[in-house]
Amino acid sequence: MTRRKKIYEGKAKILYEGPEPGTLIQYFKDDATAFNAQKKAVLEGKGVINNRISEYVMTRLNAIGVQNHFIKRLNLREQLIKEVEIVPLEVVCRNVAAGSLATRFGLPEGQQLPRSIIEFYYKNDKLGDPLVTEEHITAFNWAQTQEIDDMLAMTLRVNDFLSGMFGAVGITLVDFKIEFGRVFEGDFSRVILADEISPDSCRLWDTATNEKLDKDRFRRDLGNVIESYTEVAKRLGIMKDMPRVIEGGVG
Ligand code: UDP
Repeated sequence: MTRRKKIYEGKAKILYEGPEPGTLIQYFKDDATAFNAQKKAVLEGKGVINNRISEYVMTRLNAIGVQNHFIKRLNLREQLIKEVEIVPLEVVCRNVAAGSLATRFGLPEGQQLPRSIIEFYYKNDKLGDPLVTEEHITAFNWAQTQEIDDMLAMTLRVNDFLSGMFGAVGITLVDFKIEFGRVFEGDFSRVILADEISPDSCRLWDTATNEKLDKDRFRRDLGNVIESYTEVAKRLGIMKDMPRVIEGGVG
């Protein structure tokens, strides 16, 4: 196999040059990090499950007109994606109080929010991804006002769709983080959904028991991380595409 050019290596994924201009290959690693990479582990099989779950979610979002970077899955750990210019923001949407929102406002985890809340964080590891307002975003030119409007509208659509999709299989979508990127067409650019949507980037609770089926199992040392991610894939009906090694839950 020819050596591919690595474009970027993040905490959970690697981006390689794609086969055609304007494409990249996104490789899902088994590495897990939390608390700004102070906590690290290798969770065998995580990359395979997240690649498959993200493929499924992005494909379904594409089908309802939420444009995203996903083109096709190439193999167990890799997918072909459109090259985008990443907007340096993490867009978080919340339905139920948890994590940093619960801490910031002293809310009990699990409290239903009066309505869905969208927040922006500036993507900067050195600064620990600080919460920012639209004023910061436009003043520092991280995104234009129109792009913010588009991201807000798309995030709400993603939230409605995913809440229904997970709700139908007994999973509550507590919150999630998404990222956007620009694609250029002549003088114009538009923002599309990028990165991944998986149990690494969502809080997913079993609706009947409130059991956590997401990365909080790793962050909070609750154990059975891979088993929980596998349970999400099973409920979505996509476990049959997974290799046997994952099926029993390894790691
Ligand atoms: N999240 C993420 N990456 C981050 C920070 C948060 O995917 O760098 C997700 C997290 O999994 C959760 C949501 O965004 O689903 C909200 O996270 P929160 O702000 O509560 O931060 P946390 O408690 O995870 O530090």
